Amino acid sequence: MVAASATVSPIRLFPVGQATAPGSGTALDAFGRAMTYLRISLTDRCNFRCLYCMPAIGMKFQPKDEHLSDDELLRLIGLFAKSGVTKIRLTGGEPTIRPRLVELVRGIKSFPGITEVSMTTNALLLSRLAEGLAEAGLGRVNVSIDTLDPDRFKLMTRGGRLDLVWQGIEAADAAGLRPIKLNTVVVRDQNDEEVADMAALTLDRAWQVRFLEIMPLEGVGDVHDESLVTSEETQARLETRFGPLVPVETDAADPARTWKIPGAVGTIGFISPVSEPFCASCNRVRLTADGKLRLCLLRPDEADLRDLMRDGADDDTLERAIRAAIWRKPWGHGLAEGERETVRGMSQIGG
Ligand code: SAM
Repeated sequence: MVAASATVSPIRLFPVGQATAPGSGTALDAFGRAMTYLRISLTDRCNFRCLYCMPAIGMKFQPKDEHLSDDELLRLIGLFAKSGVTKIRLTGGEPTIRPRLVELVRGIKSFPGITEVSMTTNALLLSRLAEGLAEAGLGRVNVSIDTLDPDRFKLMTRGGRLDLVWQGIEAADAAGLRPIKLNTVVVRDQNDEEVADMAALTLDRAWQVRFLEIMPLEGVGDVHDESLVTSEETQARLETRFGPLVPVETDAADPARTWKIPGAVGTIGFISPVSEPFCASCNRVRLTADGKLRLCLLRPDEADLRDLMRDGADDDTLERAIRAAIWRKPWGHGLAEGERETVRGMSQIGG
């Protein structure tokens, strides 16, 4: 097991006597981290079944009426914006299968304070959506693609078509949804020997190819246990092909450590939640499709905003609930201490 501790020196930045969340300004947690980034899962459904994301059998999907409606979602986003959120990322499940996605993006972008709306997608439907999304205000996309081999792609997604995904990526690039970032989860004996070919995409394209370590979410703990490839191992493979990578400076809140192949146009990112947790600089919370504010990707601590709203809470009450939940955000994901998420899978949270 390679997990490093995510719990090094947690420091409460506020006096012990201050037991409640401040009521204005950007929402902070008790460790002083400002939550400016909200990831929203628009649905728990997906048109792929990636083997590190969903189990082969036994997936259960929520009834649609458990999901936030567009109006409910927009109301909450307005309150998150009042609480200091400036960046929104749409995810899923697969966000592009949500009806009225373009109108939703337009609505989100209309809130003063929301400066950036982006999306994580498998790109299958992007060739017909990219232009409309860009026009509605979507800034950029991260596309999940694990291999450039059509047969392996079919295997890893349990049925997906690489040619359609590739068309989607090109459509996103043409629509200006840039910089395009490609997310590749590295899975031993599946695509680990292909990482240098993926990285080679950055030689003549201004893309970022990012390699992710598998996390043990509900339903895929065994895939993590058997097939985790650390970023260190992936980087060594890249350096065998390309020579030493060159570090690139990035924003401290960026979970990716960024590098470049010497002379390349684009960059390489390593996202290493298992071997090098980045909890200390976490600035994000998540809203699930069923309206739960999830405080840490890998911990089941959630606040139920949907039921509060459906029970008739006014905006002040909801905003206070958002701030209070953020205040109790856990310090770190706890993988090194043996914590395991056994309630929700990644497709129900959104990554
Ligand atoms: N369907 C969209 C997509 O494919 O990008 C959005 C949702 S997907 C859950 C978001 C991201 O989580 C993808 O990049 C996916 O590769 C990643 N992911 C899913 N399961 C994972 C796991 N167990 N460990 C690490 N990343 C995972």
